[in-house]
Amino acid sequence: QAKAKGRGAYQLFEPEMEEEARRRHALEHDLRGALEASEFHLVFQPQVRLDTTELTGFEALLRWKHPARGLVSPAEFIPLAEENGLIVPIGEWVLRTACATAAPWADLTVAVNLSPVQFRSRGLVTMVTSALAEAGLPPRRLELEVTETALLDDSEATIEILHQLRALGVRVSLDDFGVGYSSLSYLRKFPFDRIKIDRSFVGTLGESPESVAIVRTIASLGSVLGVETTAEGVETIEQLDFVRACGCTAVQGYYFGKPCPAAEVGRAIETLNAVRRVA
Ligand code: C2E
Ligand code: MG
Ligand code: MG
Ligand code: MG
Repeated sequence: QAKAKGRGAYQLFEPEMEEEARRRHALEHDLRGALEASEFHLVFQPQVRLDTTELTGFEALLRWKHPARGLVSPAEFIPLAEENGLIVPIGEWVLRTACATAAPWADLTVAVNLSPVQFRSRGLVTMVTSALAEAGLPPRRLELEVTETALLDDSEATIEILHQLRALGVRVSLDDFGVGYSSLSYLRKFPFDRIKIDRSFVGTLGESPESVAIVRTIASLGSVLGVETTAEGVETIEQLDFVRACGCTAVQGYYFGKPCPAAEVGRAIETLNAVRRVA
C-alpha cells in the first residue's frame, strides 16, 4: 500500500523537484556573473534602542536583482553562494559597500552579516581592517552579525578570528538566537556584544505563552551577562509593548521600518527622529 501511494506521490512531485533543481542550477550559474554585472545592491533596516526609542543604526541586507527573474531572496541565493564559495567575494563587496555607505551617517552604526564560509577563508580580519580604513568608518560603528552555524564547525579557529575582530574595536552580535540546537553554549564561548532574538519568537508572542517565556528568559540572560538583546521582526505596536515588557533592549522590524535603499536612509533617519519626539 505504501508502495502504491509512494509511486503516486513520486509522479506528483517529480516534475516539481526537477523544476526546483533546474532553477537552483540556473541561479547558481547566473550568480557567477552577478557581482561583475553589478546586480547586487544593499538595503538598510533601522535598529532602535528601546529605553529612548532612539535610532542607533541600520542592518545592511543584500539584494540580488536578477536581469530576467527580478529580485531573488537572500534565503535562496546565499546558500548557493556559500556552496560554491562565491560568498567570499560577495561578502567582501557587502562589507566594503556597507562601510562606505555608512561613513557619512554621523554616529550611527551599520550591521553586516558574515557567513560561516567567510570565517574559513583566509584574510577576513585583514579585509575588515582595510574596509574600515578605506571608508574612514570608526570600528565602533561597525557591528558584525554571525549565526551559531558559524561557530558549529571549526569553532576554535572561528572564536580566535572573532577575538581578533573584536580587538579592532568592532562589535559582534549573535544573530537568529534561539533557533539552533545549542545557542546557549555559544554565549560561553565568546563575549558577544548583542543577542538578536529570532523573529519566529517575536511573531508568536500574541498566541504562545512559550514564546513569551523564551523572549523574557533571553532578555534577562542578556541583562545578567551585560549583553544587549534585540528583538527581530517587530511588526506591530502590541509586539513592541510585549518585547519592551520582556526586557529586550532594542528592536528591529517593520514597525520602525522596512529595509530601504541607501538613497532613502536620510528620510528614514528624519522619520524616526520625528517618531521619537512624539513617543
Ligand atoms: P537576518 O540577518 O536575520 O536578517 C533579518 C531578516 O528579517 C531580513 O530578511 C529582514 O528583511 C527580515 N525582517 C526584518 N524585520 C522584519 C519584520 O518585521 N517582519 C518580517 N516578516 N521580516 C522582517 P532578508 O533581507 O530576506 O534576509 C534574510 C537572511 O539572509 C538574513 O537574515 C541573513 O541571514 C541573510 N543575509 C542577508 N544579507 C546578507 C549578507 O549580506 N550576507 C550574508 N552572509 N547573509 C545575508
Ligand atoms: Mg542579521
Ligand atoms: Mg536574524
Ligand atoms: Mg536570518
